Amino acid sequence: MEKTEKILDVIIIGGGPAGLMCAFYCGTAGMKPMILEALDFLGGQSAALYPEKPVYDIPGIIECTGQELADSLTDQVMQIEPMIEYNQSVEELKQVDNIWNIHCKSGKVFKCKAIVVATGKGAFSPIKLGFPGESEYLGKGVTYTVKQLAAFKGQDVLIVGGGDSAMDWTNTLKDIAKSITLIHRRDGFKAHAGAVNQVKALAESGEINMFIPYEIRKIEGKDKVEKVTIFNNQTQEEKSFPVQSVILCAGFRPTTEALKKWGLDLNEKGMIKTHEICKTSLPGIFAIGDATEYTGKRHLMVMEFGEAASAAGAVSTHVYGKGKGGAEWWAGPKKKRTGNVEVDKDSENKTGQQNPKDKEKQTVKS
Ligand SMILES: Cc1cc2nc3c(=O)[nH]c(=O)nc-3n(C[C@H](O)[C@H](O)[C@H](O)COP(=O)(O)OP(=O)(O)OC[C@H]3O[C@@H](n4cnc5c(N)ncnc54)[C@H](O)[C@@H]3O)c2cc1C
Repeated sequence: MEKTEKILDVIIIGGGPAGLMCAFYCGTAGMKPMILEALDFLGGQSAALYPEKPVYDIPGIIECTGQELADSLTDQVMQIEPMIEYNQSVEELKQVDNIWNIHCKSGKVFKCKAIVVATGKGAFSPIKLGFPGESEYLGKGVTYTVKQLAAFKGQDVLIVGGGDSAMDWTNTLKDIAKSITLIHRRDGFKAHAGAVNQVKALAESGEINMFIPYEIRKIEGKDKVEKVTIFNNQTQEEKSFPVQSVILCAGFRPTTEALKKWGLDLNEKGMIKTHEICKTSLPGIFAIGDATEYTGKRHLMVMEFGEAASAAGAVSTHVYGKGKGGAEWWAGPKKKRTGNVEVDKDSENKTGQQNPKDKEKQTVKS
């Protein structure tokens, strides 16, 4: 087994929005965090599951896509120069003499004083609905995620579900697809009220079709999806119509298999129970983001960014002891860019004008 002998202050498991912001705040508190990410890219769900979906609820950003958010968070955290290890899926955590040993599937072992678990929903696996044709047409019109909006251009699309994803894709694809039909198996939606109201307004104005309480009976087609039959689960009445794409939004099951082996207190849903300042049931292990649950928890990034700052402060206290500082507001990067010129802040004079004698410190970017 390959070992990384250096003992780091803090390792963050998961490079999604929560993990990235936690690394950033660890940096502002004077630490040099490492991020271990199972995938070969950062950004978590926003990059993996909804790269082209608009996001409207990040403070200070009126609208951006999931990918733009992931890119922006990545750029932000890169300013504090974290260590990043991609393709490192964490399997086991072992404590030896107060030091945590993190064992990855790759065989690598990383050592640290504190861990922040930011594994989100873990390895994403979609909940299957089990109707005839679901597996057969997967990738041939049936999908659980939307990676490229353009793929639905001019198509008749069926969207299934009553949660945030179903509402978001309905609202987002309505101007791209030829037609949208939304079905949901029961009256009442789990999604945010704003998105539901928008979908209901579209249905009332005839811009989309909406059938409740309906489920899929079967999908048919030669080599790819061509037709769907849906049924009213109260009356059994059936309707058939042509579709080229079926987006199934029954949710994703968190794969907590790895988490279960880590010895953390989990709730009945497999989520980490956290206590004050993101502490878990194990010393030196903190948890944030979608992986956690506590009373009042909302699975919104804005809340998870707050947890990221809290956890960074708690890590700082754990590693350096009380009074040694925590996550603070930041004075900005030592080097800042003005136009295409990178300026070392220490060489600026008080008026913000660059001192001409420090000109040689400039790096002109091509
Ligand atoms: C369709 C959809 C739309 C959404 N829209 C919004 C929105 O508009 N606004 C909003 O606030 N929220 C939205 N959310 C929710 C938001 O994306 C999540 O709350 C957020 O991504 C949680 O961040 P996280 O970092 O905790 O977890 P994740 O984003 O899930 O990231 C976790 C990371 O950890 C990695 N990982 C997991 N297990 C391991 C392991 N064992 N070892 C190493 N790495 C591991 C994963 O690969 C992943 O990169 C949406 C969610 C979905 C599904």
